[in-house]
Amino acid sequence: VSIAVYPGSFDPLTFGHLDVLERAVKIFDKVIIAVAKNPDKDPLFTLEERVQMIRAHAEGHSNVDIDFFDGLLINYAHRKKATVILRGLRAVSDFEFEFQMALTNRKLADDIETVFMMPSESYSYLSSRIIKAVAKLGGNVEDFVPKLVAKRLKGRVGLVK
Ligand code: ADP
Repeated sequence: VSIAVYPGSFDPLTFGHLDVLERAVKIFDKVIIAVAKNPDKDPLFTLEERVQMIRAHAEGHSNVDIDFFDGLLINYAHRKKATVILRGLRAVSDFEFEFQMALTNRKLADDIETVFMMPSESYSYLSSRIIKAVAKLGGNVEDFVPKLVAKRLKGRVGLVK
């Protein structure tokens, strides 16, 4: 069976993340969304909140698991018997960093392959960071994130960095 780990901060979940997920569930037997604790990124939402928002929108699939991880991604992938790391690729701007990460991970674990998927062009400019910036300025983010996430963002506007 092909098990893919889909890692990220998901701070918060966007339609871009979900678009990639919809494509991946058709290809892999199982997709594990693995939310990175990432304390050094100073996330807006707690790990529990990020996981819960994903749960509310991705649990409809029988082959999707939602989990979190800390530490080296390849160790986590090995524990889960995953052979694929799934990443979304937006614009060219993602490329350099993803290229470095993929080749570093391959050096660390050459039994794991990084696979990139491109979202629909309508989401190719979306990032959690931009959405937080729009929400902070009072903009409507309902075109970019699920309703529940938009509501959570609104409730947190004063705290958005
Ligand atoms: P990270 O902190 O690891 O970059 P993110 O939550 O920003 O975590 O992203 C998780 C994964 O989802 C990454 O592979 C990222 O490229 C992908 N992603 C984020 N936004 C989009 C989008 N709009 N379209 C496609 N992929 C996306």
